[in-house]
Amino acid sequence: MHELSIARSLLGLVRESVPVGAVVRSAQLRVGPLQAVEPDAMKLAWRAATEGTVFEGAELSLTLVPWALCCRECGRSWSSENWSDPCTCGSCRVDPVGGDELTLVSIEVDETQTRLGSVDSGRAVKRDQASTEVHRV
Ligand SMILES: [Zn+2]
Repeated sequence: MHELSIARSLLGLVRESVPVGAVVRSAQLRVGPLQAVEPDAMKLAWRAATEGTVFEGAELSLTLVPWALCCRECGRSWSSENWSDPCTCGSCRVDPVGGDELTLVSIEVDETQTRLGSVDSGRAVKRDQASTEVHRV
């Protein structure tokens, strides 16, 4: 299952990003449309991947990123839920840009249950080089 392999990679990143013993409340993932991730399946997969680990019970929140589209006629770029949207100039020659994002955006760690220092990490589950913030709450 596609989502399960993503969940496992994600779990590996979370494990590397937080101090040993930290209690992870939640992880935020940004997903581009090309990843074809089904949110419910993704959450189930996350639950399955974390079960029996110290991260069991951590919540996964997903942000589904819309398509970034660019018009070949007039150069306008915009974002849309629908990749086949025509441009406002009337052109149908529209290209999707990117869309394969899969980024662990942030991790929320419960500070009341750990006394460990802060964590800096900049991690993408795949290709993208976005940064991951670890929020301590
Ligand atoms: Zn256009």
